[in-house]
Amino acid sequence: MSLFEINYSKINAWLFCPYLYSFVYVEKKYPPRNPASSLGTSIHRALREYGRERLDLEGLFFAYDQSWENSGYESPQLMMEYYRKGKKMLENFWLSEMERNSSIIACEKDFEFTLGEFAVRGTIDRIDKMADGRIELIEYKTGENEKYSELIKNSLQLDIYSLAIKRAMNMEVSYTSMILLAFDKKITQAYDTSRFVKTEEFILKIGEEIRSMNFSRKGDCSKCQIAKLCRYRES
Ligand code: SF4
Repeated sequence: MSLFEINYSKINAWLFCPYLYSFVYVEKKYPPRNPASSLGTSIHRALREYGRERLDLEGLFFAYDQSWENSGYESPQLMMEYYRKGKKMLENFWLSEMERNSSIIACEKDFEFTLGEFAVRGTIDRIDKMADGRIELIEYKTGENEKYSELIKNSLQLDIYSLAIKRAMNMEVSYTSMILLAFDKKITQAYDTSRFVKTEEFILKIGEEIRSMNFSRKGDCSKCQIAKLCRYRES
């Protein structure tokens, strides 16, 4: 029996709107890039190199230049504005890393584990081992959403990745963190592993919904990234 592949991005797209899921994962089309998504891609690529090579600041800036994604900008001026913004984020990040007392044990770490009839896959931005040996899961965020402090409490992404660290890597997450690069801030919470049961139930429930391809609902078209391309859009 072949397993149905599921990941956080698929679940997220499905929860927003089944038609968005279908656009990306069935029709295999790409949502158009915008400045925020392109900057996010550029920074994640640079931080992957930072984590792998333990770069100094000059090396990090070089990796940023090499990683730069230039699509999605309406003008060269706007692109330069975002480029400078991203460079400042990386500089602040690098300076705060100088005070870190944990060690990076993995970055851009791919995982896969089986849950029922599903293969749960994904990529974790970073895993650190703290000075006392405990494990910290870290996700980088480049968005300017001020509600991250609330979002971290019930983050499906962190729940799935914490479960993956347990199921695929046999390690126990003690803390989950988001590094908010736009705010030069890190938020951390102790992770409650009793959430695993509910996370598994949720993955199985949404996985079944996705497999059944029930298109009886739509998302908020006014906030949809493919609104201009979607033939099912409600005006
Ligand atoms: S435009 Fe509306 S119907 Fe189309 S994918 Fe987006 S939310 Fe769904």
